[in-house]
Amino acid sequence: MSRDLRCSRRAFFRESGLAGGVAWLALREPRAVSGAQPTAGPKGAPAVRPSTARAAGGPVAISSANGLAAVEKAMGLMQQSVDPLDAAIAGVNLVEEDPNDTSVGYGGLPNEEGVVELDAAVMHGPTHRCGAVASLRGIKYPSRVAKLVMERTDHILLVGEGALRFARAHGFTEENLLTDKAREIWLRWKETLSDKDDWLPADDEVAQALREQVKKRDTGTIHLSALDAAGNFGSVTTTSGLAFKIPGRVGDSPIIGAGLYTDNEVGSCGSTGRGEANLANLCCYQVVESMRHGMSPQEACLDVCRRIAEHTHEKRLLKDGKPDFNVSFYAINKAGQYGGAALHKGVNFAIHDGTVARHEQCAFLFE
Ligand code: ASP
Repeated sequence: MSRDLRCSRRAFFRESGLAGGVAWLALREPRAVSGAQPTAGPKGAPAVRPSTARAAGGPVAISSANGLAAVEKAMGLMQQSVDPLDAAIAGVNLVEEDPNDTSVGYGGLPNEEGVVELDAAVMHGPTHRCGAVASLRGIKYPSRVAKLVMERTDHILLVGEGALRFARAHGFTEENLLTDKAREIWLRWKETLSDKDDWLPADDEVAQALREQVKKRDTGTIHLSALDAAGNFGSVTTTSGLAFKIPGRVGDSPIIGAGLYTDNEVGSCGSTGRGEANLANLCCYQVVESMRHGMSPQEACLDVCRRIAEHTHEKRLLKDGKPDFNVSFYAINKAGQYGGAALHKGVNFAIHDGTVARHEQCAFLFE
């Protein structure tokens, strides 16, 4: 990054009150943790929704917005004393098998060649063990394979053909994960890439609607962190990754410390959104470390958003200096406090604290 850019970036943060200024410092103050109404910050400051406190830890389950049914499932299982990792995996399995979620598992958007490639990782708090798979093709439940990598190997990450063979050896059957819906979206993407090739864009109403989705180049993913009544954590992140990626591209989701991180003494964090930004800053590890040093889950999540914004390469900045992508974080600490934050406004997370599964808003850096 050029020196000039660094200067102008600093100026941007100074003017918007996001760094070094009163507004940012205010975020770091310990704050009351009752209630869940967002607190309006000074003009230009991030909106803050106080983390919710629980007197006695779990059970609590937090997930990305697509995880409402998943937190419900995980909570029900933890209430029956199921291990928090098993509960978390059972929760995200609902989304992995859902053909309508085009960002995870079956029905996920494929790579640029039309092949669905999945990434997943799990962490088990009590044993601090973890497992992951990347670029796995043809297996609907990559999170279950990741757990087997954790339990049945002395490795942590298996990729591609090796991951597939490992899954087969453990009895997983291969299936075509590309649904008609995902294939149609991929085709629309392919047809609109260039007007100099031989792929002619379809022109009916459905094609128009799908093209809108293509333009957004949706990212998705599901993360779920679970804390049980005994104070033990389990976490999982699973995804089909960036739509239309270069085959073999792996994002943050299966990387321990990036797509998720859990320390049973401190807390757990997971992420969705632009994986490259998270990988370059190893954010989930950082969130857990910040919680270790006293930040609330929400403050810790916002802190890494700020770090991502500061480190964003100029080619991914909008004219106003803000990143042109979003990344979101979801965290719980040992006391059962939870919170989420995203770079940009408008992201929700799913939460179940033993009362009811619901959506709450992530705090954010940018309007
Ligand atoms: N983080 C995922 C990845 O980069 C994608 C996403 O969450 O949308 O692969």
